[in-house]
Amino acid sequence: MEIRPLEDLRTADNLSLAFNPYGLGGRMKPEDAAEFQQRQIADCDLAAGVAAGTRDSFDRLRTVFAYGVLCYDVYTMVGDQALLIYEQALRDRFMEWCAGTITFRAPQSPDVSHTVTSYDDVKKRADGMRGQRAKLVVATHTIEFNGMLHGLRLWARTAGLLRGRRSRAVEDALAKLRNYVAHPSGHHVDTPVEAARTVRDLAELINQLWGQTTPNGRLYPAPLRRDIAVLSWNGSGRARMEPADALTVHDSTEDQEDVAYQHVVVRAIPFVPGSRWDDAHWAEFDTRYETTRFPTEYLWGPGTREQARTWMEQERPEGDSVDFTDRVFLVQDHERLLPPMRPAVAAGLPDEERVGVWHAVRADFPADAFAHVRGSGDRSAGHTRRPGDCSACSAEVLGVGSHDEALRAAAAALGPIQAVQPPSVRLPLSTFWPDRP
Ligand SMILES: [Zn+2]
Repeated sequence: MEIRPLEDLRTADNLSLAFNPYGLGGRMKPEDAAEFQQRQIADCDLAAGVAAGTRDSFDRLRTVFAYGVLCYDVYTMVGDQALLIYEQALRDRFMEWCAGTITFRAPQSPDVSHTVTSYDDVKKRADGMRGQRAKLVVATHTIEFNGMLHGLRLWARTAGLLRGRRSRAVEDALAKLRNYVAHPSGHHVDTPVEAARTVRDLAELINQLWGQTTPNGRLYPAPLRRDIAVLSWNGSGRARMEPADALTVHDSTEDQEDVAYQHVVVRAIPFVPGSRWDDAHWAEFDTRYETTRFPTEYLWGPGTREQARTWMEQERPEGDSVDFTDRVFLVQDHERLLPPMRPAVAAGLPDEERVGVWHAVRADFPADAFAHVRGSGDRSAGHTRRPGDCSACSAEVLGVGSHDEALRAAAAALGPIQAVQPPSVRLPLSTFWPDRP
């Protein structure tokens, strides 16, 4: 090979300089590129308790990423290495979880426990037990476990260490990429954008494995802050969302204009500039259906601005925070498919409204649950119809049947369901969910 002088090795790679904050096109100065690229992953720090081996590997990955400015190929190698650390993190977490003992259960025989001191031990034991059709005991469940990535992923989900439905689809994709990296069948090149995203995803996954969510995360987001907000609308189709504070400013000209408006008070995700998560569907609010993207809680209304102000001054409601992942929705199919409903609302319906076929679906967003149920009507689309994870989307089927059967499936996942009967309130105009009774 050609021996390159040090000066040459220290020179920025032209390909790396082509990536700038606005995408491809302009060319950055080397010093700007070095800073810009490092900033892309600068804030992904690992939680305090993360195992030393995983932490060392991750820190090394972050260090090497910075050298991509000098050598574009580094981005591909960083992306590949991140996928291997994905498996290392699962192994390290497994070793902490099992605390030196793994237990297998085979049909018609007593449980067998083994002492393990390394992950190699775990793999040997798992291999040995497979011949006896034994399954790994994970709390109150048993799972197929071969010690490979597939088994580790199943274990982490069963043990409740990983959560979210969309993140599960990303875990699937990471596993496929990991297998491709371990057994490459061709040439691939990662851009700095892809490499940085893989590193960020990896940081989120490691932190979640060790029990820490990521504020504004893509995969395992921390619970979102909900504030008290006032939704209002008038007869000519205008709708507004205001923070509660906006009503404490008393302005008589404003009140005159507002006579034509109806107001409701809710707990909702506020619009935060730069947040990955804001509720583009807030104006679809409906007490009966889950038509906003995030859980929006009805508190009061409808009424005038003055009444809303009085109610808030008396009651002084406060914000809270919500985890929007892994929600359970019921979707009613009666002559047409209706928007997803919260199980508590479905449980409070009068008998005549319980007709049709009901689907109990777990999903992060109502639109995901709805898309799955609509898709499952077409056999060629590949959506799962039986209980379990859907292989075609990020929904999990809990049950399908009568109103009672679907509600029982929801209760099996959530625990006892307390029926509610909220007053029927909705904003009149709808872009995303126009088809509601
Ligand atoms: Zn599906």
